[in-house]
This record gives sequence, C-alpha cells and structure tokens, in this order.
Amino acid sequence: MSDESDELAMRLKAFEGRAAAVAGAGKDPVNEPMIRHWCEAMGDTNPAYAGPEAIAPPTMLQAWTMGGLSGHTGRSGAYDELLGLLDDAGYTSVVATDCEQEYVRPLRPGDEITFDAVIESVSERKTTKLGTGHFVTTRMDVRAGGELAGTHRFRILKYAPARGKPKARRPRPVVNRDNAGFWEGVGQHKLLIQRCGGCGSLRFPWLPGCGACGCLEWDTVEASGEGSVYSYVVMHHPPFPAFDPPYAVGLIELAEGVRIVSNVVGVPYDKVRIGMPVRLQFERYDEELVLPVFRAGETDGGGS
Ligand SMILES: [Zn+2]
Repeated sequence: MSDESDELAMRLKAFEGRAAAVAGAGKDPVNEPMIRHWCEAMGDTNPAYAGPEAIAPPTMLQAWTMGGLSGHTGRSGAYDELLGLLDDAGYTSVVATDCEQEYVRPLRPGDEITFDAVIESVSERKTTKLGTGHFVTTRMDVRAGGELAGTHRFRILKYAPARGKPKARRPRPVVNRDNAGFWEGVGQHKLLIQRCGGCGSLRFPWLPGCGACGCLEWDTVEASGEGSVYSYVVMHHPPFPAFDPPYAVGLIELAEGVRIVSNVVGVPYDKVRIGMPVRLQFERYDEELVLPVFRAGETDGGGS
C-alpha cells in the first residue's frame, strides 16, 4: 500500500505549479449593477460601494472572474486531470474547505478583469473526520488593467468517505446566555417558560426581553406538560444524519398558551393530527443530550 501511495503522491505533487486556468478574462468589466445586486444580497449598506466614487466590495473579487452558466473557454485541463486522478485513487468525494483572499488594490467600475489560476499545492494524504484524502489548493491572481488587484485561494478536500462511521448524533442545541436557563431546566426534566416581570406575559422560546412591553425582567413558570398539536409537518426530504424520515415535527401549544416546536412521538408520523392531545416527556438521545418531546395517545402512567 505504501509503495502505491508513494507513487500516487509523486504524481499528485507533479501537479503543483501547473495552470488551472490560463489568461481568463472577466465576462463584464467591474460595474455598478453587479455591485448593487451584491450589496443587496449581502445586506451591505457601506456607502463606499455606491455613488460616483464607488469601489467594489473587496469580497466580490471572485465574482468578476466567474464564467456563469456558459462557462469560460480556454480553461486548462490540469485541474480536471488532477481531480480525475484522485477519483481513480478512490478519493471520490469532494468538499470545499476554505477560501482566502488578499486585496492589493480596490476595484472600480470600468476595470477590465483578467485572471489566471495555478494549482498551488496538493497536500500529503491526510485523515479528517470526513475521511482520508488530499487537500488541493488553487490560487487565482486577479488583475485589473493588467495590474494585480488581489488573490483568491480556494481549497478543497478530495477524500474517500470514512467507512463504518459511528451513528450520527443529533445536533447539539446552541446554548447561550439568553437560553441557558431553559436548558438547565431541561436537564432537571422541567420545561420552563419565561414570564415577563413587567406585564406577566408568558413567552417561548426564551428571549432577553418581553415582546409585549419590552421589559427585561423575567422569571419562569414550569409547564404542566399538557398540550395539543397546534400544527405539524412531516419531514421526508432532505434526510439528515441522526434523523430517520419520515417523522412528524409538531408545533405544540402548551396548556399555558405558548407554543414549542418538538417531535411528536408514540404514534406513527401519518397519524399525527391537529388538535391531538399530547403530553410532555423527556427523551434521552445520547449521553449528553436530553430533549423535551411530546407523546400522543393514551399514556397515563409512568410520567416522564
Ligand atoms: Zn411584558
């Protein structure tokens, strides 16, 4: 195995420095409409990107080089050749890992863009959580009027997916200062609802302030656990690791009047109905994850 890998490693190394794209030209010069669309999509209202003295947002660097649906002509085959070699070696999966940009000078409307790209490095074989493979880094130099304006490095991992991977675990909740008390309650098998210190409104999910009166003071009340299905969806696609579709996601209205998104358990997914009475229980999914879920049907004994 090591001999074969050594030979492959040498062949991969030989791609370093080869052109991935030669003498590409931007399809459009830097222009105000594309800048405006970008800023709208990004929600970027920086005044530097509008008006007669506008510059393009630096992070648009790659946008000026993109070929669109019709692509670019004159693209080098070395990159495809490299990916093909990795495919043949069993590294059939690909994931984009990161992108780095350096900005040398601002781009302004009217700048004519040219670029070329080189395969900068092919890593040694690395094993990651996803599997074993090689990182491939390309560097694109972007020029305006022939002068370097910035560089764009793009890295992918071509890998063979890990085999016999452990069963995926449910995503962890994001616990922060605003909701820590809720998750502490769950840890004690209590579903806690926030109660406004100003107007007494109950609220869920947890928020720092009251949506009714703006008051930041609050305490909690423990939910009785009684509720009903206010609405629901049945998840079929896309499948997520750790979830086994189809399954019902319910919007549960608690007896206290607030609603919570949770799983409905205890009945087949296609038997969940709006108005169905449900009762809170705490389900352990792994050694660190307990979640409140809602059981439908004639459960009366045992509690949680
Ligand atoms: Zn209030």
